[in-house]
Amino acid sequence: MTAEQIAENFESVRNQIKEAEKKSGRKEGCVKLCAVSKFHPAEDVLAALKTGQTLFGENRVQESFAKFTQINSVSKIKPDLHIIGSLQTNKVKKAVEIASCIQSVDREELLAEIEKQCAKIEKKIEVLFEIHTGEDSKSGYKEKSVLLKSVENCANGIYPHIVPKGLMTMAPFTQDEKLIHASFSKLRNLKDELNKSFPSLEINELSMGMSGDYKIAIEEGSTLVRIGTALFGERDYS
Ligand SMILES: *Cc1c(COP(=O)(O)O)cnc(C)c1O
Repeated sequence: MTAEQIAENFESVRNQIKEAEKKSGRKEGCVKLCAVSKFHPAEDVLAALKTGQTLFGENRVQESFAKFTQINSVSKIKPDLHIIGSLQTNKVKKAVEIASCIQSVDREELLAEIEKQCAKIEKKIEVLFEIHTGEDSKSGYKEKSVLLKSVENCANGIYPHIVPKGLMTMAPFTQDEKLIHASFSKLRNLKDELNKSFPSLEINELSMGMSGDYKIAIEEGSTLVRIGTALFGERDYS
């Protein structure tokens, strides 16, 4: 895709986010855009940076480490990177070096490793807890009791380098909008519940909505949409 096409896509998606905010009676600008650049080259990220986009999401640490190291060396404007894909424990060291947020925390063991690696480099990192809300997706916390234990550990100061900011989910891949609404509203209700139980934390971010369902997500209270295809085109996995 050319830089011009990418710029047009960003303009169009930003306008549609604005419209969706308005339609849902939400404040203009309350929904942030995370541009998912996985499987797209560094040039595409540079084109996006030129449009004013600074927040990017990648799901594979190895790929994004190389890509964003290169981008950082050539671009004056520094991108802000979130890891959004399931993260193996042995990739955490590199992940915390390049990212400002891990959106895909789905187990206690991962929190412990993030703390360990962040402590080594004296860096604080934000995290979102990924929640399993739909039937298709494999990732995310499934047992509420397990999630509550993780959040409680954060609230008790067990992980001083970790700043929990909110929740993330993927809706099921379906045409059935009722199921998509149900998945997103489940995440919103869980956020409200966590805020009541753990008032010392600020669990406010709701990372939900992708190219196919972000308007529904905005209706349901999303504060952060993760959009790839609608901005950069189809991914070539070959
Ligand atoms: C790839 C990916 C996205 C972006 O999906 P699109 O349908 O291309 O917008 C969002 N969230 C996660 C977790 C992803 O892996």
